[in-house]
Amino acid sequence: MSDRLPGFSTLAVHAGAQPDPTTGARATPIYQTTSFVFNDADHAASLFGLQAFGNIYTRIGNPTNAVLEERVAALEGGTAALAVASGHAAQVVVLQQLLQPGDEFIAARKLYGGSINQFTHAFKSFGWNVVWADPDDTASFERAVTPRTKAIFIESIANPGGSITDIEAISTVARKASVPLIVDNTLASPYLIRPIDHGADIVVHSLTKFLGGHGNSLGGIIVDAGTFDWSTGGKYPMLSEPRPEYHGIRLQETFGNFAFAIACRVLGLRDLGPALSPFNAFLILTGIETLPLRMQKHCDNAKAIAEFLASHPAVASVSYAGLASDKYNQLARKYAPKGAGAVFTFSLKGGYDAGVSLVEKLQLFSHLANVGDTRSLVIHPASTTHSQLDDAAKIRSGAGPDVVRLSIGIEDKEDLIADLEQALSA
Ligand SMILES: *Cc1c(COP(=O)(O)O)cnc(C)c1O
Repeated sequence: MSDRLPGFSTLAVHAGAQPDPTTGARATPIYQTTSFVFNDADHAASLFGLQAFGNIYTRIGNPTNAVLEERVAALEGGTAALAVASGHAAQVVVLQQLLQPGDEFIAARKLYGGSINQFTHAFKSFGWNVVWADPDDTASFERAVTPRTKAIFIESIANPGGSITDIEAISTVARKASVPLIVDNTLASPYLIRPIDHGADIVVHSLTKFLGGHGNSLGGIIVDAGTFDWSTGGKYPMLSEPRPEYHGIRLQETFGNFAFAIACRVLGLRDLGPALSPFNAFLILTGIETLPLRMQKHCDNAKAIAEFLASHPAVASVSYAGLASDKYNQLARKYAPKGAGAVFTFSLKGGYDAGVSLVEKLQLFSHLANVGDTRSLVIHPASTTHSQLDDAAKIRSGAGPDVVRLSIGIEDKEDLIADLEQALSA
């Protein structure tokens, strides 16, 4: 082998995988087993004591999932990763390592709706307090920092309007506050943006979306950048203090630049339990092999459709960072030069009724609550995902009554445009 570093597409196909050592199987097998036989009593004891790496029980780790973890860590440029059952599970497991009851974390106001709910309600019951900041105003993050702040959470490309976040500017705030920056990279995928290159300390994904990519499997993943010093000021006892569960070892001292990924596995996943099924890991791995091809097609189609909509007389406005006229176009050129993603919103001159009617008339687009499928998807947030908010809050979150959200698939763009054309003119 030459000492060339493999490119992104090569890693998407190969990282973490080898022919199966016992059978020679070339595709990664689905290790559909709950448990793994120990060599002997010493081996078992050393696995349980974290003195050796190996398989014990699928809630803690599984060889199919391990290939997925190594692959996504390689694509994101992290030191290690942990796969879990869903994107939401990834968020719980990450914050459980960082926050004690009464602590705070700062989150960008523009987030996936489910994350807004999770942070506002479920996390409150754990005593974890979210403080909101405006991703378009870096100073609002700085103002939100208090002695109880333990993390900052943003999305690289944010739901629902596809806006681009200035990751480097917010990472500077996180550095100054000595807290880790967590970036949800679901809508970009590492093909478009690698947040670690811009100062992220932890990356999370809903694998359910573009990484799996086919709308068939839920999953989530946590990537450790290996960049954060967990010993600062005793703020992160899960990582810096002796763990009674493991004979008093200190995770940072023992595992160095992948201690966070280990903490998520042995303190988070082991005890909270949201393990990813190896079958889902297999489907998501298969999806990742074509990520670069799919993502480019998603973005090229999205740009063509955004341009079509921007010039249509029934359309009031289009919010897509890939358009030269868009507010986020400068940030898109910097952070996502290959394309500005495939999820965006537009608004109709006819308001709420026109939005509902459009969604009902589309035939090729599926009306459902998901993004990042091979199929094109549509939803009217004001009457569905954001219907619990009052009108002012809907508008603030980019889901006003006239707004329609699209997730553009990988079909022929001419067919998608024809479908929009007939629905808009009907
Ligand atoms: C879907 C999504 C999530 C949650 O992921 P699940 O796999 O549905 O739990 C989190 N963040 C973003 C940006 C998402 O799109």
